Amino acid sequence: MDCIVAMRYWIKSIAICCLILCCPLAAIAQNTEDAVKLERSFDLRSASPKESIALLNEIDVNNLSKKERDLYQYLLNYSLFISGKYEEALLGLNNLTGNEVSADVRHLAMSSLVGMYAAARNWTLGFKSLESLLNEINSIVDLRVLEQAHLSIMVFYNQSGEHELAAQYAYPQLNDSKYSLRFTCAASMHWLTAQVKVDISKLSEQTFSDIIEKCSNSGEPVLVTGIDAFYAEYNLQSGNPDKALAILESNIELVEQIAYPPISAEYYQLLAQSHFAAGNFDEANRYAERLVDGDFRNANPAALVTAYRVLSTNAEQQNALGQALEYLKKYEKIKQLNIDQEKAKSLNIQRAKLDAVEKSNQIALLDKENALLRAEAQLHEETEFSRLLMIILLTLLLTGVIFWIYRKRRTYAKFRKMAQTDDLTGIANRRHFTEQANSVIKYCQNTSQPISFILFDLDFFKSINDSYGHQVGDDALKIAVDAAHKCCRQNDLIGRLGGEEFGILLPSCTSAMAIKLAEQCREAIESAGLNESKYDFVLTASFGIADSNQSEYNWEKLFACADTALYESKNMGRNRVVCYENEPILERL
Ligand code: GH3
Ligand code: MG
Ligand code: MG
Repeated sequence: MDCIVAMRYWIKSIAICCLILCCPLAAIAQNTEDAVKLERSFDLRSASPKESIALLNEIDVNNLSKKERDLYQYLLNYSLFISGKYEEALLGLNNLTGNEVSADVRHLAMSSLVGMYAAARNWTLGFKSLESLLNEINSIVDLRVLEQAHLSIMVFYNQSGEHELAAQYAYPQLNDSKYSLRFTCAASMHWLTAQVKVDISKLSEQTFSDIIEKCSNSGEPVLVTGIDAFYAEYNLQSGNPDKALAILESNIELVEQIAYPPISAEYYQLLAQSHFAAGNFDEANRYAERLVDGDFRNANPAALVTAYRVLSTNAEQQNALGQALEYLKKYEKIKQLNIDQEKAKSLNIQRAKLDAVEKSNQIALLDKENALLRAEAQLHEETEFSRLLMIILLTLLLTGVIFWIYRKRRTYAKFRKMAQTDDLTGIANRRHFTEQANSVIKYCQNTSQPISFILFDLDFFKSINDSYGHQVGDDALKIAVDAAHKCCRQNDLIGRLGGEEFGILLPSCTSAMAIKLAEQCREAIESAGLNESKYDFVLTASFGIADSNQSEYNWEKLFACADTALYESKNMGRNRVVCYENEPILERL
């Protein structure tokens, strides 16, 4: 019985019945005894609500799986709605739309809510539920759940006056072979409902015969009855009341058996109109009176408008003017009431749609704000990252530069040292020694300190080279320099001034002290030659000394005087220290 209510857009309970296709949800319910009862209860929920509830009462919830328990809850809330406890049912179904509920049951609940809000004319929540369902419909996998969702949406569009949307939405589903026959039949019914409302003249005989053929094989005679009502209306509008009457009369017996007021009213209305159009005024009056006498005011007020019009016109034709006026007044009154109701409904729908648009605008605005904030955060993050990267790069660059400078300075220091040092002995070379000597002499002169200079030359060194070879000669040079170096004070400068000729500059030192130090050197070289060398040559050196007293603070003069003294030392037999005086004298300590 339930499915027949879908046949007219204005029938209040249409939503409920068409949400239901009596297919077992095998994917949800498993095959235990309680699960079988649950499945049966699901099947019977619209066709036989009492039986469905009785079965639910027999079920022990503890025997059910999580999915089955969700389905059980869905059926409980569904039965509450059927028994008129709308608020409780809507609350319970809303609780089943949370993410913790198994997807199939959640989608069933969402579909039911869409239909129920439409039936309850709660358009604000209806549009909200519709939007939620539309957002999720593509994720529905179970075909039966999907069919139910599609039907709820079609019903909602038709109920809320969005017939073009209903037609557009239903059309692609009509011939999709993946759906069940009873679904395509119900979808055709909704499509037809929408088309009748939009423009009935666009329909054709062929369309009706195709749909009727499809539905006659679907095992849904009640749907065929509904479609036949549209077919009759189509014929009536097309000026073929006899055909309309034939269609209506072939169904009236079944319609009266069903005895569902909105359907009966629709049939009586069409019968009254068709008889009137066919000139059967008495028959037309009979059906119009049935409408007026029956309790159809709430079920189908539009049918009453037609009924009073037929009655008034008939009375007028029979010259019963008083009665005609009476019917006319009633006609006007109920017509106005109907118009007012339709207006109020349309106003409410418009308001709900505006609410939905405003809400979605707000959401879109929030989304945009969020996107902006996200972009800002990302930009900030990227800026921070770039800054960090820059710091790292600069640090690396700075470290590189510092390292480069360090390496450069080291290389420079190394080269400078190499340029200043004698390779063999490691002491200052002649050029560096001369540079240093000049500045030290200047310093001593400025600070009025004495300065002395020792020049020494290894004795008969050529014979060492000749006797032992050049390599041994080199070793001997190193031994002599080491020995002399050890005798120097911290601030004394020692340097190699020629092949086997060396100089020691002694700041703050008189010639007397220089003579002592030179003697220490001489002895050290001699003893090193004897003890430290693995050769049996004799290593001695001759020393010449000069100081600032005789040669002023002048390097060339100091050197020349020391050289003169050294020459004297050689002449006097070598291995001795000679101090320069105006007349060079030997000062052998
Ligand atoms: P005197 O006592 O008069 O100074 O005699 P001498 O042999 O030391 O003097 P001479 O000037 O005749 O010879 C110096 C020798 O020193 C000649 C040269 O081959 C040697 N000589 C100079 N520089 C080096 C050097 O770096 N290594 C070696 N093995 N020999 C050197
Ligand atoms: Mg020599
Ligand atoms: Mg020499």
